[in-house]
Amino acid sequence: MSFGAAASAHRGHRLASDAPCPCGRRGFGSCCGPVLDGRAADTPEDLMRSRYTAFALGHARHLVDTWFPRTRPDDLAIDPGIEWMGLDVLDSDTDPDGRSGRVHFRATWREKATRELATMEERSRFVRRGGRWYYVEAL
Ligand SMILES: [Zn+2]
Repeated sequence: MSFGAAASAHRGHRLASDAPCPCGRRGFGSCCGPVLDGRAADTPEDLMRSRYTAFALGHARHLVDTWFPRTRPDDLAIDPGIEWMGLDVLDSDTDPDGRSGRVHFRATWREKATRELATMEERSRFVRRGGRWYYVEAL
């Protein structure tokens, strides 16, 4: 795929595998690290967490790769003026056929310039194709 050359040129920050994962669940190396490196996420929640972590670390490529092609924006840039502060997964589920799922989460960030905190809450929909989960849209 030749998509997002600019995004792939910017690889984002790396973390040590025993560093706390930005998503807050456990160590980076046993949490979002492998998914950011290309391993298939097991569940919609795992993919959602890895996408939050990609925002936090500036891995635009992972966001492109895990966005369902039909709903993916043509241009995807990570706002460098925002610092992601934390993630709460409120609920998640997978349909019995294993092909779609949802995650309800709340993410907190702050504007680096003003240090003002803000929160977003979203119910996201995911689908699984070819053994890989993709983010589709906010419900
Ligand atoms: Zn994580």
